[in-house]
Amino acid sequence: MALVVQKFGGTSVADPQKILVAAQKAVARHQAGDQVVVVVSAMGHQTDVLVDLARQITDRPSAREMDMLLSTGEQVSVALFAMAIQSLGVEAVSLTGAQIGIRTDSTHTKARIKSISTDNVRNFLDDGRIVIAAGFQGIDQHGNITTLGRGGSDTTAVALAAVLGADLCEIYTDVDGIYTTDPRMLPEARRLPSISYDEMLELASLGAGVMHPRSIEFAKKFGVKVLVRSSFKNVPGTMILSAAEATPRAVSGVALAKDEALITLEGVPDQPGSSHALFSPLASSGIAVDMIVQNVGHHGLADISFTVPADDLAQALEVTQGVAAKLKARGVFHDASMAKMSVVGVGMASAEGVAGKMFSALSREKINVRMITTSEIKISVLIARTDGPAAVGAAHRAFGLEAESAALGTDSSSLPLRPSSPLEVVQRLEGMEDLAVEDCQLDSSQALVTFIDLPDTPGVAADVFEEVGKAGLFVDMIVQSHPREGRAELSFTVPARDRDRAIEAAGRIAKARGARVADVPHVSKLSITGVGIRSHAGVADRLFAPLTEAGINIDLVSTSEVRLNVIVAAEHGERSLAALRRAFGLA
Ligand code: ADP
Ligand code: ASP
Ligand code: MG
Repeated sequence: MALVVQKFGGTSVADPQKILVAAQKAVARHQAGDQVVVVVSAMGHQTDVLVDLARQITDRPSAREMDMLLSTGEQVSVALFAMAIQSLGVEAVSLTGAQIGIRTDSTHTKARIKSISTDNVRNFLDDGRIVIAAGFQGIDQHGNITTLGRGGSDTTAVALAAVLGADLCEIYTDVDGIYTTDPRMLPEARRLPSISYDEMLELASLGAGVMHPRSIEFAKKFGVKVLVRSSFKNVPGTMILSAAEATPRAVSGVALAKDEALITLEGVPDQPGSSHALFSPLASSGIAVDMIVQNVGHHGLADISFTVPADDLAQALEVTQGVAAKLKARGVFHDASMAKMSVVGVGMASAEGVAGKMFSALSREKINVRMITTSEIKISVLIARTDGPAAVGAAHRAFGLEAESAALGTDSSSLPLRPSSPLEVVQRLEGMEDLAVEDCQLDSSQALVTFIDLPDTPGVAADVFEEVGKAGLFVDMIVQSHPREGRAELSFTVPARDRDRAIEAAGRIAKARGARVADVPHVSKLSITGVGIRSHAGVADRLFAPLTEAGINIDLVSTSEVRLNVIVAAEHGERSLAALRRAFGLA
């Protein structure tokens, strides 16, 4: 007998007929002898309707009352779902988040789960009933109803699967699986038979709306097997599982975050502490920043740029302006019309020329790249919002993602039902959704190449990496600053053993473009690995603070959901490692 959690999204329970169809799926599992927990979203667009109702009353509804209001959507759908199952002759019981015992913190409208008690659910299951759980909601320590943030029913489902030790968590939705990119935006997108937790975490948090990113944090931390499949068609779906079980590809998918804003703090002292002075108050305001880029600095002054979701712009600007005044910075620039396009793949780190290929594809479409950051499994570029769809199409074609061969792999239906193993770090967490830092590593085998005053013309990154590729240089981390006065800075790391070759090639490249090359120092790369690194506000700052204290300057930073990388001068490597291990409580 297996235990299966099935989640039905809004479109899957949009009307009574659809609820009956969904209920039949749960009943079929139950009749096959399995225990079944169903997690349900609000019907159709009910949550939007409720948000709109509140707006008609006031522009600034209290977050607590918002949660009280929004949680009613799921209360309606669970009751109807339980009735539907009962009408099919099987016993069922509906439960709210509070009745299950889903304990969260008190951050209304985006609460994080602290713990879930399983007694109630288990008793009902052992009694032979199907349990219908309200998605997206919980209760804080004072008994207030909380919600997990839009799209949060996925997270309820995977979290329940985690605590119950479910064999499988099925996510029923309106697409038949995870695609190489949003099929609504690009019809050539293809379904992937399987995808790894890390790739799905990145894609989801970089804009693929198909799964709530926090649900994949749970899946990875607790080793929950997740199958995303269609509510309406009986087709295979996509299995989300550990990297060892998924098919590795250089590029698995493309995501677009359509509403990004760029903020640049201009002309700050280029010394340890400037980043900390900025990112510490941003973290305290609960703003999760991405794409952090600091340029080398002219005449002792540097620019620090970062991106935030456009919704957080006003608050982030206010904080940044305060910091600018304190640091006597030259000014604060912002642009709210940006989008972030990312390509993701676990095989990227060992594949050559992925970045170059992507920049060339964008260049052919005359798309100007405003900022670049990379980590081991993704490359993100900041572009004008209006270029978003064209950029996705160009990247998708460049990696041949529309072709069958790119999407081949084990089909999910042939995989055994069995959870993967949970991460060791999970036992040390106080709350289920706490940031999970696993390790901090030092790699001192790289050298850093920096171009200064590179002309900001479409295609310049493509040009540079084409020549870098021809010179046989294997590039690891890439960061391009936001251009100012038509000039940008572009930095990347190469193996230190190739330093001479890199200096020679960089000199040639710079000369042809009227740019300069800075010294090419040996550097140390420090990587903090774990789960939820970007989505937990303030992780980057937990890295800046101890390095500032130790008087160590940071050359480059890159963030992803599973990794935070920093580049510092080689001589600071060991000291940085020790400081970071202490800061993150790693022995
Ligand atoms: P539900 O209401 O079931 O939770 P969502 O609307 O939240 O469904 O998610 C499904 C939608 O996600 C799809 O209709 C699709 O347009 C969108 N989507 C975005 N990126 C992807 C992707 N990479 N693969 C599949 N669907 C995607
Ligand atoms: N009903 C909630 C929303 O629309 C939660 C969910 O559907 O996952 O955001
Ligand atoms: Mg959803």
